[in-house]
Amino acid sequence: MVLYSHEIGKGFTSLQTFSSVLGISGISQRAFKDHDNKITDCEVESGEDMLYRTANAIRQAYAETDDDIREAIERGENPMIDISVSFDGTWQKRGFTSLYGVGVCIDLLTGLVVDFDIRSKYCHACHIQKAESMNATDLAVWKEQHDCCTNHHKSSKSTEQDSAVILWNRSVAKYNFRYVEMLSDGDSSAFKAVLESKPYADKAVTKLDCINHAHKRMGTALRKLAKESHLGAEELAG
Ligand SMILES: [Zn+2]
Repeated sequence: MVLYSHEIGKGFTSLQTFSSVLGISGISQRAFKDHDNKITDCEVESGEDMLYRTANAIRQAYAETDDDIREAIERGENPMIDISVSFDGTWQKRGFTSLYGVGVCIDLLTGLVVDFDIRSKYCHACHIQKAESMNATDLAVWKEQHDCCTNHHKSSKSTEQDSAVILWNRSVAKYNFRYVEMLSDGDSSAFKAVLESKPYADKAVTKLDCINHAHKRMGTALRKLAKESHLGAEELAG
């Protein structure tokens, strides 16, 4: 029952209502929280395991294209591999008012997700504690023990560049990969943030432009030109 609530994004109160509609006894809030935490831990563990298996598949794919990498792997080493990735960020909702943002890196050779980062401006437990109007001392004690979900305190728009900096700066420690080429959309703020963070001291990161976005920008420029030509052909001719 807790898994069901977790999967559809509902909390303890919803489960209580659902249980009473079915005429069955519910569980205590404490038990709900314990089970919910265990489910979250399992999901995180399973996600990380999947990422490491994906990284191995990417390593093998690069070994097939590069003898040095293949030979190093055959010797039982874990060689540093320079890979090209596409990076993009997305939000829970549009308009930069979202409380959650996700940044994702996809390996261009295999099309597999290499890594992702979730930025959250909201923590439900903190929200509940504030609503219960705890006094300052109790709240401070509670916060000491609390594993907070909030990891982003700046604007929603900045989640994308913050995620990029985090992903680039952990790629070596996590996989021994360097993301040396970044394919991303026209907004280069994430790329600039990565450059400023200098993730690979002696190795540059370069930006590739997505052909779709290049098309889009070209289309916008041509439509603008066509409109201006129609309204003022003489000025353009001059
Ligand atoms: Zn919190």
